[in-house]
Amino acid sequence: MQAVLEFMHMKKGIHPLVIGNWKMNPVSTNLVTNLTKQLKTTLSKITDVDVVIAPPMIYLESVHKIRNGGHAFQIGVQNIYHEKLGAHTGEVSIPMVQNFGVTHCIVGHSERRTDGESDAQVHEKLIAVIKSGMTAVLCVGEKTRDESAEYLRGIEMQIRTALAQVPKSKLGQIVIAYEPIWAIGTGKTATSEDVHEMKLFIEKVLSDLYGRNYAQKVRVLYGGSVNEKNAQELFVSGTVDGFLVGGASLQAESFVSIIKQVRIS
Ligand code: PEP
Repeated sequence: MQAVLEFMHMKKGIHPLVIGNWKMNPVSTNLVTNLTKQLKTTLSKITDVDVVIAPPMIYLESVHKIRNGGHAFQIGVQNIYHEKLGAHTGEVSIPMVQNFGVTHCIVGHSERRTDGESDAQVHEKLIAVIKSGMTAVLCVGEKTRDESAEYLRGIEMQIRTALAQVPKSKLGQIVIAYEPIWAIGTGKTATSEDVHEMKLFIEKVLSDLYGRNYAQKVRVLYGGSVNEKNAQELFVSGTVDGFLVGGASLQAESFVSIIKQVRIS
């Protein structure tokens, strides 16, 4: 199994990736400082997994200062506005977050789609993110599954709309996170067989769009109630390139345990 995993990941020439989406947590700067310091200490010893933490915008400066240019983790944001500056009350732009070392941006998280974010807006954001040189983490997922597998058409449409006009040359800046909505924050996970099937489906959609070799440049993650108990099975049998983790990324111990389970060396 180890050999299979090594081949799978070597094929893409990339490390597994684990992203911690803190959502609207924690409530105080002290908690942010403690969590970030713990992660920095532990993760600086792990060099074979790429780790990104995505705190709320208000904490970017604290996290950036603690990171202090180190390699323990990279910094992401959970959302962004596509314009650079101007009359957009309440929004935050890409150049603003880049001041705090941000390299990754989640786009199209289902919690934002539920609040009204459209496929067209997700596309606009994704284009702005890759133009800036950052990596876009595109979230796709179905609300429910139907027996005739119509939900697959929905996933395909989310990918095709978001990636419209994205050239092959930019695919290294795209990560796709498959996050079934019914699994997010619910304690229910997709089975590893379902995850594996969806990973193959996503790769097929990408291959149809860009050809097989280019499709391999895109890391495909799973997200939805990943924890230290189910991570290994989902990673190995689900054959994903890593995880997007919500709740379990808020405790250093559980997040690091998940990260250790995607190590392939
Ligand atoms: C998420 O927020 O993207 C997520 C997957 O959350 P959780 O791990 O809590 O289900």
